[in-house]
Amino acid sequence: MEIQIIPCLQDNYAYLIIDKTKNIACVIDPSEAKPIIKYLEDKNIHLKYILNTHHHYDHVGGNIELKEKYGASIIGYKGDKDRIPEIDILVNDQDIWHEENFQAKIFHIPGHTLGHICFYFYNEESVFTGDTLFSLGCGKIFEGTYSQMYNSLMKIKALPEKTKVYCGHEYTKQNSKFCIAHDQDNESLKVKIKLIDEKLKKNLPTIPSTIKEELECNIFLKSGTEENFSKLRDLKDNF
Ligand code: ZN
Ligand code: FE
Repeated sequence: MEIQIIPCLQDNYAYLIIDKTKNIACVIDPSEAKPIIKYLEDKNIHLKYILNTHHHYDHVGGNIELKEKYGASIIGYKGDKDRIPEIDILVNDQDIWHEENFQAKIFHIPGHTLGHICFYFYNEESVFTGDTLFSLGCGKIFEGTYSQMYNSLMKIKALPEKTKVYCGHEYTKQNSKFCIAHDQDNESLKVKIKLIDEKLKKNLPTIPSTIKEELECNIFLKSGTEENFSKLRDLKDNF
């Protein structure tokens, strides 16, 4: 499987997971249809599945157009069946979603929204975290509690260290400023910031990160307790 990063809107990423043996793909969080269609048409790939991490417009905005064009099926959390446009297949925490050669384990990770899920493509050693875990940050808590968000991050944190992290937005540089302000002696973080700057200078995504890098550098994963996490989340909101 090949994973392609498709920049959408201002700073969103959609991801195509492509089975080259069959020339089919699924897409994760298509904010808009246009850049997805362009990539698929250029490479002559057929879109079969649309996977949504949560119901926010900048993650589902392309659902209807892509479904119409390709007849693709839409997969999302069962609790969000009334908020995810055109949803077809409902999944639950701990489910294995398996169609064609695509296989992912579903984790319910509430906090940013109550119905947020992530897709862990274990064969690809890749997790798609939407707006819950960002590189060097985490999503704002819009619907859930601090406790829910903390526990959701702990679930992601428990994945194997080599797991690649594909998140919903290019927020890494801004996030790094908050991390270094609160973790000034972190040598791994300093190295990562250099790499981030190099990538951004070349107009490249800073994604994917890895669980290992996030464990070492992401202040929210390093916070240790729910109380510390909550304090950091508040500070970040006003940073
Ligand atoms: Zn969101
Ligand atoms: Fe978002």
